[in-house]
Amino acid sequence: MVQKNRTMDLNSLFRKEVLALSAYKVADAQGLIKLDAMENPYHWPEDIKSSWLALLRDCPLNRYPDPEARPLVETIRRLNQLPAQFDVLLGNGSDEIILLLLMALNPGTSVLAPAPSFVMYKQISQSLGLNYQGIPLLAESFELDLPAMLAAIEQHRPALIFLAYPNNPTGNLFDEQSIREIIKITQGLVVIDEAYAPFADASFMNSLGQYDNLLVMRTLSKLGLAGLRLGYIVGQPAIIGELNKIRLPYNINSLTQLSADFALSHQALFDEQTQKICAERTRLLHELAQIDGLTVFVSAANFILFRTPENQATRIFEYIKQQGVLIKNISYQGGLLTDCLRVTVGKPDENAAFLSALKKSLVD
Ligand SMILES: *Cc1c(COP(=O)(O)O)cnc(C)c1O
Repeated sequence: MVQKNRTMDLNSLFRKEVLALSAYKVADAQGLIKLDAMENPYHWPEDIKSSWLALLRDCPLNRYPDPEARPLVETIRRLNQLPAQFDVLLGNGSDEIILLLLMALNPGTSVLAPAPSFVMYKQISQSLGLNYQGIPLLAESFELDLPAMLAAIEQHRPALIFLAYPNNPTGNLFDEQSIREIIKITQGLVVIDEAYAPFADASFMNSLGQYDNLLVMRTLSKLGLAGLRLGYIVGQPAIIGELNKIRLPYNINSLTQLSADFALSHQALFDEQTQKICAERTRLLHELAQIDGLTVFVSAANFILFRTPENQATRIFEYIKQQGVLIKNISYQGGLLTDCLRVTVGKPDENAAFLSALKKSLVD
């Protein structure tokens, strides 16, 4: 029986940082063209789907998964040509790896990232009571403000720095030399978050050997497997070993292990899809640049950030949604993102629907 005459005082049970947070909201996309979450719009051909299903048929769901996901790790090592001296840790999405990294830090220490950047860095840091510092990017170029970053490192001595490369939500690749300078000067760890690596012609994976505090993180989500939830991070065995202690033993389920390994062995399919997306990105950038009143930012990712005329972002976002296309309204984040919207590159017809709705929104 539920005890009635008692009021639970959650305020005294939960950390104040948790009570102060708002939950990460995901918009309802039902019935809409979904260009809000950087997903790959393409499915698999029928024959590949059939071989995948055949593989899943014999998956022993009554057994716990392989806690080390060995075959999958080997595939990831092979595809990235990772030298044996580095270790790999898998996460239930790279979000889980961000959580593990932050959970391992001393309470109260500082975490630093440029602002704006991926929202989970701040959300998780704050929920754990860490001192999160967002250092503003330069206006318009969204480039790292290197002197400000170096000063913040000096002042806050961060245990961890996140650099998304390309950055979300701005889409650009930060200057490589600036990143190297940050890695060299900090006493803490630097995580290069390469969630959008499939769409960018740049990576720090080959630089791992040059810095003992460097970690490179990737995810299969933006490549086309967002539903599977698989991310990974590569770095020195000493660092990965510590993270492994706080990882839950069966964090990668059997279906994900099998499916991810299967998918990665069809690299050519994903390369083809990625090329289509990159070609559409070029077209979309070009089309957006022709529209009066918009400022469009270059992108090395599978999404494009653009600025609408002053105080129009929410109206335009809602108008486009009325027309059946869901993009992301990030204008409410303020700062450098004031008046900004973000669109994921979709299939040609989806992008056409978006462009047509956007153009209409500006004349209506
Ligand atoms: C989407 C995204 C992630 C999260 O990826 P998951 O593997 O789906 O958790 C991490 N970092 C950046 C920069 C992202 O944009």
